[in-house]
Amino acid sequence: MKFFKCPCCNKLHFTRLNGLSFENPYKTLKEHTIKKRLKCGKCHNNLAIFINNKTSETKIIWEEYYKIYDDAYQKQKDLQQEKEQVLKIEDEKEKQKHLEQVLKKIRKIQNEVSTNQSKLRIKARVISPEASAGMTERLS
Ligand SMILES: [Zn+2]
Repeated sequence: MKFFKCPCCNKLHFTRLNGLSFENPYKTLKEHTIKKRLKCGKCHNNLAIFINNKTSETKIIWEEYYKIYDDAYQKQKDLQQEKEQVLKIEDEKEKQKHLEQVLKKIRKIQNEVSTNQSKLRIKARVISPEASAGMTERLS
């Protein structure tokens, strides 16, 4: 028996992990296996229970919320690489110009992640306002 709290509404869940595992689409959680998927009975969000393949630690995510971060991850990584390349440009003026562009793109993606996650938190607060205390901390 495993027990855990919903990262969104803090509802306590008890569940049995039955040896099944599910396809793991999350690029940032490659070293984990999804052992269970369920819907929280209180906030109705989809949750996934992961086990770390090396440490066996459990990780619970609110899928829709985490996916926003996960989807942006590759884009951010690509832009970081682009930035590395830009830093190699010898002409200072050229470098500055390209650097500003790439930094702008990075900020844009970060803003999108934070805006989209914030929308989900707001929606969840409307659904269960009494459970929303500490939600931001639980999800970070
Ligand atoms: Zn919940």
